[in-house]
Amino acid sequence: MKAAYLLGTRSLEIREVPQVPLECGEVRIRIEAALTCGTDLKVWRRGHHARMLTLPSRFGHELAGVIVETGPGIPDWRAGDRVVAANSAPCGRCRPCQRGQQQLCEDLLFLNGAYAESIVVPERIVQTNLHRISDGLDFHAAAMAEPLACVLLGVEELGVEPGDRILVLGSGPIGLLAAVVLRSLGACITVAGRGAHRLGVAQSLGVEEVIPVPVDGDLGGVVSHAKALGGFDAVFEAVGQPQAWEAAVQAVRPGGRVNWFGGCPSGTSVRLDTAWIHYGSLSLRASFHHTPEMFRRALGFLEAATVPVGSFITAEASLSELPRVFDELDRGGAPLKTLIRCGP
Ligand SMILES: [Zn+2]
Ligand SMILES: [Zn+2]
Repeated sequence: MKAAYLLGTRSLEIREVPQVPLECGEVRIRIEAALTCGTDLKVWRRGHHARMLTLPSRFGHELAGVIVETGPGIPDWRAGDRVVAANSAPCGRCRPCQRGQQQLCEDLLFLNGAYAESIVVPERIVQTNLHRISDGLDFHAAAMAEPLACVLLGVEELGVEPGDRILVLGSGPIGLLAAVVLRSLGACITVAGRGAHRLGVAQSLGVEEVIPVPVDGDLGGVVSHAKALGGFDAVFEAVGQPQAWEAAVQAVRPGGRVNWFGGCPSGTSVRLDTAWIHYGSLSLRASFHHTPEMFRRALGFLEAATVPVGSFITAEASLSELPRVFDELDRGGAPLKTLIRCGP
């Protein structure tokens, strides 16, 4: 069977690999839909990810498909089940897990290999993060459960009240998914980001306001706009650059909340005005990844068709075209998410 391998910085290869026999508690999924993701692009550009994978590595982490084989010891699952699997599972035993922060598990088990004809799901993920999907839910829609689960955790940790004026910094898939979720909770949303097409999508999602950001990423205009309004109640930062983290803090009102959701390049740092944070009584936090509870909730959102999946997934390609797809993502302006069809 064919599977994509990440070999290093900007280096992807589709390989023919043998099918390994299943161990106890594992299932094999024929992948019907895999989705490109900003995290994959980041990892492809940097050629590594300290926590998620070691090279050479199977690649891709947003997937849905059909179980084709089950290992011993799992009578609840059958060949033919339509399923979605998360890309990780916590141990359930370490201190963060015991304190309800499974996303910070000291032994988080990651699963990569969505860009492939099939994948073996390890026992721990089968037990905590594998779900059947209804016949009415498309595989590509179900595959959005992973990014949506991350966003749901970020939104919960930001804290939202109906009527909040919230700035979403960033018009990529994560920023726009956050806009959908925040709107569903009754907040008024401004999206600031690059790309006329993406801002058009934001408008089609019903956000109150969009602010174009220049190509150089300068956020001075966004901050001035925020200050003229007296500051936003909260900012959901979905850019992952130090200047966006700093702008997020400048764009809230006194008493405002910030979630630095976008992970910045490692080794970078930010400059913050301590007086503003102190006298403004700001709440600043960052969210990482997702928990089994958020993954379940995300699937509920998708089953209820709360997310207009068609606005996010606007292109498709075959597995063999994956290297080209990443070159295009790298140049920017590509579709928000591309569906990779992995069938032979
Ligand atoms: Zn993802
Ligand atoms: Zn743990």
